[in-house]
Amino acid sequence: MWFQTEWDGVGIAFTDATEGNLAAHTGDEPEAVTRRRRALETELGLAPVRWVRQVHGTVVHDVTGTHVPRTAPEADAAVSADGTPLGILTADCLPVVLVGERPRAEPVLAVAHAGRKGLLEGVLQRTVAAVRGHGATGIRAWIGPAVCGRCYEVPPEMAAQAQRVLPGIVSTTDRGTPGLDLPGAARTLLGSLDVAVAPEGADRTAWCTLEHTELYSYRRDRTTGRLAGLVWSTAGKDDA
Ligand SMILES: [Zn+2]
Repeated sequence: MWFQTEWDGVGIAFTDATEGNLAAHTGDEPEAVTRRRRALETELGLAPVRWVRQVHGTVVHDVTGTHVPRTAPEADAAVSADGTPLGILTADCLPVVLVGERPRAEPVLAVAHAGRKGLLEGVLQRTVAAVRGHGATGIRAWIGPAVCGRCYEVPPEMAAQAQRVLPGIVSTTDRGTPGLDLPGAARTLLGSLDVAVAPEGADRTAWCTLEHTELYSYRRDRTTGRLAGLVWSTAGKDDA
């Protein structure tokens, strides 16, 4: 496990290669993926984790009060107001976990897959709105492992276009070429939405998927591996 913490009755985690590939859509053996997902649920003591079929869009799927579907719905974010565990899969794109506090009610949980496209098109704004839609007052976010601004090189036109949408997103790579700092832009954006970003992961070099082989990186390996960002309610669980 790359990172795991508990905050206000909620568990937050980001997996790494120790847990193995958790994506069913990247050409891995489906049985092996199912086995790893079950192992993860057992390790963390979770009810079935809800996943979505990610398409680099901005749709937020609300699982509150629903049963586990036969096929995962197409979406790039999910929200649950009843403590249902949520998972999001990435390899370089940003996994973001959100926890919304509610007075006299359990926290609202959310996950989002924010790559360049989703981030620029508003997936985080929509996810925050969905959390607030369940009555959350204060929201806290954890930005998981992703490619950092020193490693994510893009064509100059792409950098200029991104800069028009999210000023400050452009970085300079180690090679001195234009890049994008997705984690930094997400941090600024979430701050502007009154979301408190957790200090863990602030050092993006230390949390860079491309620079750490125990993290999955599509840009480095072109492999099937995806890591998971997870959030779940720990309320009512016996910690002994
Ligand atoms: Zn890096």
